[in-house]
Amino acid sequence: MDLKITCIPGDGIGPEIVAETKKVLERVAEIYGHKLHFEDILMGGASIDVHGVPLTEEAVEKAKAADAVLMGSIGGDTTTSPWYQLPPDRRPEAGLLALRKALNLFANLRPAVLYDELAGACPLKEEISKAGFDMLIMRELTGGLYFGERKTVEENGVRKAIDTLTYDENEIRRIAVKGFDIAGKRRGKVTSVDKANVLDSSRLWRKVVEEVAKEYPHVTLEHMLVDNCAMQLVKDPAQFDVILTENMFGDILSDEASMVTGSIGMLASASLNDSKFGLYEPSHGSAPDIAGKDVANPIATVLSAAMMLRYSFDLDREADAVEAAVKQVLKEGYRTRDIMSEGCTQVGCSEMGSLLADRIV
Ligand code: NAD
Repeated sequence: MDLKITCIPGDGIGPEIVAETKKVLERVAEIYGHKLHFEDILMGGASIDVHGVPLTEEAVEKAKAADAVLMGSIGGDTTTSPWYQLPPDRRPEAGLLALRKALNLFANLRPAVLYDELAGACPLKEEISKAGFDMLIMRELTGGLYFGERKTVEENGVRKAIDTLTYDENEIRRIAVKGFDIAGKRRGKVTSVDKANVLDSSRLWRKVVEEVAKEYPHVTLEHMLVDNCAMQLVKDPAQFDVILTENMFGDILSDEASMVTGSIGMLASASLNDSKFGLYEPSHGSAPDIAGKDVANPIATVLSAAMMLRYSFDLDREADAVEAAVKQVLKEGYRTRDIMSEGCTQVGCSEMGSLLADRIV
């Protein structure tokens, strides 16, 4: 395949982790006979420094013209960086919000996987963590409470704030379809999370998800209330495959799920639109405290690239190869500083990238 990938190295550790991920992708392309065309664009602080704005129209056009976008991370130290003296709509993060909007990315995917070799970092009791877990949180990203009408008023001298939570059936259907499609590529189970005992928006959510489920007889659907889901994530995380949920519930649950893995440098993410197009980036930020020191863990970005191979390009074999390389390198005892433990060999960002590329088969 001939694949056009627009890269956003971004700020902080972004350029380091993206460079290592390109190394791994080049190796995949070499072994499996693909041609990759990378083009870098500026976003975030890097774009502010050159263009005065966190994202230019030209950069958006280049992202749109690609088959997928691979991003490092953006932003600086929020207390000391001059980028944070700018008005909010000119700061680094505004670039990412604008890009997500321009690309119509409505589905956010965050896997939370506990690797055997890193089980020690899991904060759960061993009797729970020993079962392992490998789940994916599918969060609706452009609707719900965060995008509803909001206002603060004063009535009879009392201040009152109003936020509205709205979903229409089309918004629910398109994310449900993504959730079932992806569950079909995994272990075939969707847990749809809502608060249908209280909220109308959740009752509609449940109905539409059930309609979509009829088109996927090979995928099992269960419903779970969000409060129960928050408990089940720490009580029995092994039960989950795909968790499908609306924007605010997904925001909270995906952070909870990532915390139970215990390793921020390992967490991938993807945001998709209704074609095969997606933006792939690690869940962590730009880690300005370790930027330029060759100590960052590139694995979250490499695993995001594996998601890109799987979900944007349908290259499952190649995605499996990248994920297997990550497991192999961990099994051999190589660790970056953030996941280092006794008896292992500590390596830098660049060496980790080379080890991963070498283990692609
Ligand atoms: P952060 O995720 O950058 O860092 C939190 C801690 O985890 C730090 O100690 C950091 O050194 C460590 N860490 C993060 N990624 C690591 C990696 N790959 N390898 C090793 N250690 C790693 O969060 P923060 O410090 O709150 O934010 C820093 C900047 O990143 C801010 O400007 C924030 O707005 C931005 N941010 C960007 C994104 C994004 O680009 N999507 C997401 C979150 C935060």
